[in-house]
Amino acid sequence: MEKHSVLVGLVGTNLQFSMAPQIHMTEGDRNGLRYVYRLIDLANNGTSTASLQDLVKAAPDLGFNGLAVTHPFKEAIIPFLADLSPDAQLLGAVNTVVFSGARSTGHNTDWSGYAAAFRAQTVGWKTDRVALLGVGGAGKAVAHALLSCGVGHLSLVVRNPDKVARIVHDLGLRHGADRISIADSLEQAVSTADGLVNGTPIGMAAHPGNPVPPELLRANLWVSDLIYNPGETELLKAARLAGASTINGMGMLIYQAAQQFELFTGISPDIQRMQEHVNQLLLSKKS
Ligand code: NAP
Repeated sequence: MEKHSVLVGLVGTNLQFSMAPQIHMTEGDRNGLRYVYRLIDLANNGTSTASLQDLVKAAPDLGFNGLAVTHPFKEAIIPFLADLSPDAQLLGAVNTVVFSGARSTGHNTDWSGYAAAFRAQTVGWKTDRVALLGVGGAGKAVAHALLSCGVGHLSLVVRNPDKVARIVHDLGLRHGADRISIADSLEQAVSTADGLVNGTPIGMAAHPGNPVPPELLRANLWVSDLIYNPGETELLKAARLAGASTINGMGMLIYQAAQQFELFTGISPDIQRMQEHVNQLLLSKKS
């Protein structure tokens, strides 16, 4: 029997280290699909918005079922799309485009992926007050996810409050203005929080360090780091040593990819199997 075929492209720049093709195509194979996932690295084309627009226009004619979208195009792609999901509209960011004929719809699975991972991994954790450190692209999505998951109050710890005023306003309209605020200081936000989320890149190999002084960490605080490589950042290690419960960014990575896979193929993938595959990929990168 002819296998159902799916063609997807990942649009971004400097994609050479992306694990996404292996994650998606292996899961596609395991679901009996002829699934092809191509890297479309616009750094090779001079990274112009014009090439992004041309790509969105041409992709359905070239047989693409959809596009995954990453840095630096998650916001830039929006003017070229016909429709947006309500959450992509709220966040002003798209990481998934699905074509239906020539019509393109933008979705955001960063927020829903974090929300699904958070629900699965934090059962029974107290969430009355949460501090979120760093509100860039991922941080905005995670703020929406945390509020959607029932966090009572979210305190944002940012260097430049003006930069986040718009999203604070929009999330306040959606979830209640009294549920989100900008913290006076990291110390104040963490000392009153049940949980802390790191949305800064500090802790990645390229940005080493711990964004939170270890003396602020304690056993009755849970800590979520969006970073998944390394699996245990300096922050998560210090939190574990302080007796705190911790989760890394792997859950967000897997669930956002699984939700993209479902949008592209209509098939709900095997999360556990995807997780084991990503663990293997990370181990093989180390060796
Ligand atoms: P981004 O858009 O560049 O945002 C980074 C945020 O961190 C900004 O708010 C930035 O503040 C803040 N920040 C940077 N350096 C800081 C410092 N020294 N002190 C305080 N704040 C600082 O990056 P992103 O795309 O949101 O990614 C953030 C992290 O999430 C990265 O580690 C990334 O790997 C991870 N991530 C994980 C997943 C996953 O699936 N697990 C998905 C996406 C991202 P300014 O605005 O003031 O510069």
